[in-house]
Amino acid sequence: MNIKSGSPPTRSKEGVDSKNTLIMKRLLMYQFAISCFIYGSAQVSLTSNKQLEKEIIQSGIVHSPLPPDFSRSAEAKGLQKKILYSEPVSTSDKDWKATGYGKLSKAGGKSLLLSYPASTGKRATGSPSDPDYAVYGNAGMTLEINGANWEKFNRIAFVINPMCDGARVVNINFNIENGDTPKKEGYNRQSGSHLINLNNKETNTCYLDLGEYQRDKIKRISFNVSIKGKDRTNGDTFNYFFDKIELQQIEDPEIISGWQPGNNRIVYSTTGYMLNDNKTAIVNVANHNSRFQLLDAQNNEILYNGQIKKDKTTIGEFDVADFSAFNQSGTFRLKAGDVTTEPFVIGANIWDNSLWRVLNYIFCQRCGYPVPGKHGTCHIDLCSKHDGKMISFAGGWHDAGDLSQQVLQTGDVTFALLEGYNKLKNKNELLARRMLEEAEWGLEFMLRNRYGDGFRASSVGLLIWQDGIFGTLDDITSVRVHNSAFDNFLFSAYEAFAAMSLKGHDPMLHEYLMRVAKEDFEFALKRHAEVGYGEFIHFYEHSYNTSESQYMATISWAASMLYKLTGDKYYAGKAVEYINYTLDCQRKEPLNDKDKTKGFFYRDKSKKVIVHYNHQSREQVYMQAMTLLCETQPQHADYSKWTESVRLYGDYLKGLMQYTAPYGMIASGVYHIDEAKDEVSFRHSHLFVDGSEKERYAEQLKKAVKLDEEHYLKRFPVSFGIFNGNTAVHLSTGKAAAICGNFLNDEQLLQIGREQLYWTVGKNPFGQSLIYGEGHNYPQMDTFSSGEMTGEMPVGIRALDDEDIPYWPQTNNATYKEVWVTSAGKWITLISEY
Ligand SMILES: [Zn+2]
Repeated sequence: MNIKSGSPPTRSKEGVDSKNTLIMKRLLMYQFAISCFIYGSAQVSLTSNKQLEKEIIQSGIVHSPLPPDFSRSAEAKGLQKKILYSEPVSTSDKDWKATGYGKLSKAGGKSLLLSYPASTGKRATGSPSDPDYAVYGNAGMTLEINGANWEKFNRIAFVINPMCDGARVVNINFNIENGDTPKKEGYNRQSGSHLINLNNKETNTCYLDLGEYQRDKIKRISFNVSIKGKDRTNGDTFNYFFDKIELQQIEDPEIISGWQPGNNRIVYSTTGYMLNDNKTAIVNVANHNSRFQLLDAQNNEILYNGQIKKDKTTIGEFDVADFSAFNQSGTFRLKAGDVTTEPFVIGANIWDNSLWRVLNYIFCQRCGYPVPGKHGTCHIDLCSKHDGKMISFAGGWHDAGDLSQQVLQTGDVTFALLEGYNKLKNKNELLARRMLEEAEWGLEFMLRNRYGDGFRASSVGLLIWQDGIFGTLDDITSVRVHNSAFDNFLFSAYEAFAAMSLKGHDPMLHEYLMRVAKEDFEFALKRHAEVGYGEFIHFYEHSYNTSESQYMATISWAASMLYKLTGDKYYAGKAVEYINYTLDCQRKEPLNDKDKTKGFFYRDKSKKVIVHYNHQSREQVYMQAMTLLCETQPQHADYSKWTESVRLYGDYLKGLMQYTAPYGMIASGVYHIDEAKDEVSFRHSHLFVDGSEKERYAEQLKKAVKLDEEHYLKRFPVSFGIFNGNTAVHLSTGKAAAICGNFLNDEQLLQIGREQLYWTVGKNPFGQSLIYGEGHNYPQMDTFSSGEMTGEMPVGIRALDDEDIPYWPQTNNATYKEVWVTSAGKWITLISEY
């Protein structure tokens, strides 16, 4: 929901709520669903996509998973590539050696069978800092290659047939390791690990493209899996049959890094483009004669003939097809030279299908709930303890590819779903209601983990399935609990927003939410009075990098949300009071660069370190706070200060766009050369560092754009550890741009927000959609607990090592390709601005 637009969401249109009307509403909802089923598109249409409509109905309106469509995936496309020559790799049980709990045997023909037990009988134990982030052990098999040169091959392929009784989610890692040879130009990696998602009891043809791996002296290859306990239906043994392991040289491999699309590629938004919007694609096609055509997808009739223009930008020279002038709804393809794209849509409302899919992904991540085809009721015997009490932590959504949980992340996603509901309830009621239902699932988890005295169960790192029986070996009671001012401020904002959103839908829950939102705000203020800013004590929680300016903006936003909910002037006063700190952290004097850049926020009033995010991002909260102040207190004496802040920040975002053009991904932003000298903020922003990060910080800035003697412009966030990938980062900044755009009525800022959506679904150098099942050419992702899911979204594209160029290999590993509910929440929250 656009938070500046008017009154709290209510259901007044449908009259006074009561128990009876609630029952009526539920009945109407299902009648509506059934009518879709009976009448199909003749009367009521769920979506313009008939296949998706059928799948939504067959899933019981996303109460079981939508089927993943492999046929449009990047891997399916990869399997079509021409194999120029190949060479077999041994599948003999004499050559391969079992590792860990694995056992190897010959299984008829040339098949090799790897088996391992589902249970080891021992408790899983992890590191002292994260004791329950643990597995029971590993099982695998290894083949020594003894230094063979594999440079004449660019792919390894294998046929895997898992026969794992009862296993609904099956996968295996493939690992490759080169010997210790000098680093050669053109290769990124000496070794790597690649997760392969498999269909159980089916023949799976799989591959890994090796282009980025140095392979002049291959040491060994291996397959391995972690033993993670048993979900409800699992049998006692996992079996994998391997056949036809083969080195291949394929034609036309995909690019792995850089800004230029691969040869003979047109990269474009594979979902499509919004009507009346800028519509561009980047072309790397031989012999296009400077022309491109827009074709009717049905009959290939040429509807628009345009000129391909050269665009020289800060990241290179590109051929760009601009068809903004074409403004008709429909389904089209682009053609340049001999290359024609898959069909895409131009329309007023092109994102609803993606919302169904992303909603499906969030549903599939439910914890403590039997997700059909995925898992049974999970993690009941996972608990927090506080003050002699215990709460089961089963609920909400598994955070990512693993089974970890962070309640604050659940809160972010719940807020996004409620925004989606408010935005869509009068436009696409069935989708809106289903989003509301999912939001209620998240909301329940937020509320259930309150201990009622300011303390909450907050997070756990987790990899295993548990047996659901209390008193057994796999019980966990170490879920983190804390009384954090920041958490309670943010939750109070979410609770207040939920109270407004649910007012007509569940009046008693509305009252309860109003009560706890006020309580949590007071718990937070009390803790804040005791300890002030800080207390980001849990390294693994994605609030660890919160700056003081973001913290104060969050207090103000929460207070404004409570003011909007209650009308109590007390909250209006708090909202004004706490934003002053944030206002003092904004850069108002221009840098010495050509554009006189300003408008970004520093972490604190010392103005030494600029706010950045490299994984989770809450960048949007600055503008949420400013615009909600303006909306709720338009007569206040400080009103012009708040609007000026929005204008300054909006101008800053506009200035960033030149650094990634002709793409629309918004750059990470301005960095100061001395930021690494600030030990505390640096440590909180960069996890798992190895001591080399200060030099690498300087190196990474050197590879970016120098603005003046002290400042650099980075396109991708500075990062060192594994927590990188920028989907949440650039979508949050896109959300901030859209908030500013809606507030200032500024089309250029709204356009910046939309470009983040286009980048995500394919207008990126790799031409890949980062939403599984949405558009075309989406890759398999790192989803080792729950299998491939329609709508899954990864942590995102990252920079290559210390470079400032995009890097997106086929290699499927964490965290960049790991699925993450945070990315899904960011997708929904940004679309809700339009
Ligand atoms: Zn669970």
